[in-house]
Amino acid sequence: MKFTPERYSIPDEPMKPFIDADEIWGYINNAKPTKEKVREVIAKAQAKNRLSLEDTAILVNTTDPELVEEILQGARELKEKVYGNRIVLFAPLYIGNYCTNNCSYCGFRTSNRDAIRTTLCDAEIVKEVEALEDNGQKRLILVYGEHPTYSPEFIAHTVKLVYGVKKGNGEIRRVNINAAPFDIEGFRKVKESGIGTYQIFQETYHPETYAKYHLGGKKRDYNWRLTGLDRAQEAGLDDVGIGALFGLYDWRFEVLALIRHTSHLEACYNVGPHTISFPRIQDAASIDSKLEYKVSDEDFVKLVAILRLAVPYTGLILTARESVAVRRQVLQFGVSQIDGGTKLELGTYSESKNEEQNLNREQFMINDNRSLGEIIDELIEHDYIPSFCTACYRLGRTGEHFMEFSVPGFIKRFCTPNALLTLTEYLEDYASDEVKAKGYKLIEKTLQEVHEQRNSAEIRNRIARIKQGERDLYF
Ligand code: SAM
Ligand code: SF4
Repeated sequence: MKFTPERYSIPDEPMKPFIDADEIWGYINNAKPTKEKVREVIAKAQAKNRLSLEDTAILVNTTDPELVEEILQGARELKEKVYGNRIVLFAPLYIGNYCTNNCSYCGFRTSNRDAIRTTLCDAEIVKEVEALEDNGQKRLILVYGEHPTYSPEFIAHTVKLVYGVKKGNGEIRRVNINAAPFDIEGFRKVKESGIGTYQIFQETYHPETYAKYHLGGKKRDYNWRLTGLDRAQEAGLDDVGIGALFGLYDWRFEVLALIRHTSHLEACYNVGPHTISFPRIQDAASIDSKLEYKVSDEDFVKLVAILRLAVPYTGLILTARESVAVRRQVLQFGVSQIDGGTKLELGTYSESKNEEQNLNREQFMINDNRSLGEIIDELIEHDYIPSFCTACYRLGRTGEHFMEFSVPGFIKRFCTPNALLTLTEYLEDYASDEVKAKGYKLIEKTLQEVHEQRNSAEIRNRIARIKQGERDLYF
């Protein structure tokens, strides 16, 4: 199929899928990763060019260890060049786990009769958000099953409720959403509540495999889900996140399909996805965990590096599904956001107990149980600047990753200073004395590095104001 960008038709009529499995396999089967070709593709990415499907196919087929190392090194360098050393932090907040779908990999699926289901009431949401604010969180992603209860009106209500919770110096400044796709009108209602990113993962872009894993409910409809973010765009919601659940089908196919989805959104709406997620399937309540396409750690690292090279200006999200060791490793190759202090069981942020996960209450197993404080401590140790920045979104600077990437000096002028300011707030309000000392050392070191910059005196001035009690200062 020749790729012709086609927008969603109004009103919501079925749209032709923009994924052609044969086309994607054609690219993969024809790609010959010679040394010259692989190096040429890496160089193209390092010159900050988006990679084509053909280029990406070369990288996914590369197995020669020396060349794989060059791919990893290329991603590491590109990440440093494009993003510097900031890592944005967030936490998921599950609002309700009722679900009418039967996705065979998920603990919330209808066929899991043992699932313990809840929808948090307003008072419980407030309590949870207060607990998250007490830990220093500023950015949340609200998560919902697919169920008539979780209507656009309900989601909009919960978003507004979350924004309204202020405890001490705590507040949530950005609420993202992970929920089922709506029609255009539904997306419009959710947008009006002031959300950041709306994430929908296609799970697998391979239609037959999709049918095999999605056994009941509205989510069975591959095309309705695939075109969900087109409807979001038509509703004016231009900040969207895509993703694939790795382990359902060949990872190389999913990587190319994610790039195709990106190109589709760029071609039709002039804006690509804000973020790409690449969860790997984890254990969940009585699921069949023998996966034909299980992705090894080695391939996982490689696929993240390839995504970094292929779409240099898209945020990459790595979650607590992965172990501490894998998170530590993958962080180097281009991840821009991670969660910290994650709890999946509904209503447990406000409980101090730290019990083992009960899979009938949770969607899946997580492998990084560290608190936000511990994660921030480690990030600082490794010279990453933890960031809670929400400036672009609040100033209406959408397409921020594109700006970071393409506007000369954008990171130096905006992103790094804002990361330092939000880190200062965290250190003042929530950190232990030890982390505070380490954090200020990193801030000072970074300020020395940006010494030549025009606004370095202004950054110092704002840091001093935060120390004196002002909050929410940004560029
Ligand atoms: N119900 C919404 C939906 O399906 O779009 C919300 C999705 S769910 C709460 C968020 C994502 O978790 C899913 O899209 C899926 O990719 C992922 N997920 C589901 N089961 C998983 C498992 N066993 N291991 C890892 N990730 C899983
Ligand atoms: Fe429901 Fe989402 Fe789980 Fe599917 S992945 S069963 S839609 S919560």
